[in-house]
Amino acid sequence: MDRLNRMPIIAGNWKMNMKREQAAELAKALRELMGDTTACEVVACVPFTDLDCVAAEIKGSNIALGAQNCHWAESGAFTGEIAASMLAEIGVKYVIIGHSERRQYFGETDETVNARVKAALAAGLKVIICVGETLEEREEDLTYEVVGRQLAEALDQIEDDQMANIVIAYEPVWAIGTGKTATAEQAEDVCAFIRGVVAGLYYVELAAALRIQYGGSMNAKNAAELLSQPDIDGGLIGGASLKAPDFNEIVKAASAD
Ligand code: PEP
Repeated sequence: MDRLNRMPIIAGNWKMNMKREQAAELAKALRELMGDTTACEVVACVPFTDLDCVAAEIKGSNIALGAQNCHWAESGAFTGEIAASMLAEIGVKYVIIGHSERRQYFGETDETVNARVKAALAAGLKVIICVGETLEEREEDLTYEVVGRQLAEALDQIEDDQMANIVIAYEPVWAIGTGKTATAEQAEDVCAFIRGVVAGLYYVELAAALRIQYGGSMNAKNAAELLSQPDIDGGLIGGASLKAPDFNEIVKAASAD
């Protein structure tokens, strides 16, 4: 299978932005600009409190609803947490797991990433698993070691047939929210490495079908070059997902391939 058989996927990560009124407006604008897009899968990963109002705005469009985290337990004494099945029951299709901000600020580990991935899949969600090295790790030549470890641990005990519901986002931590984008070559190198690791963990055809996103200051200007790389099948977009015209330009760039 080659690149042409992988449907590009552009996901917006709104992070902790957008109160309900703003969220509804942004979702409406996205729908008007790209609601019928079929050449690219589009996902809006919004704050928990915006899920219902965004769901109402994108209903019937080709934009899928996404969340930014979920807990690994089905229910119980986990104050402040949200179970994967709670997301599924209100129409969430995708969940981001292991974002570097969760690893950095909220104690997320490779082990908890794996537990959340399993819970999300069990609830019928599709998962965007984030991996990526810090600046120090890159400077110490540890990129492949770190990304390889994060990947192997996140996918521990995930069965072959579950992999169709997984997207991997390569997000170098030094490029997130900093305006510093990885060069297309740097991003492609690591995305190709990820595909190779997955081929080793599973098999070549499965890895060839896996969608891999790049994330880290992707915007309307640099998207086309990044998305033209053979192993980059989409983007996970933070800042630029908050402006409908910019996000639309990225979706157009992904759809053009
Ligand atoms: C992200 O949060 O996943 C991200 C890539 O952010 P930004 O596009 O703002 O760098």
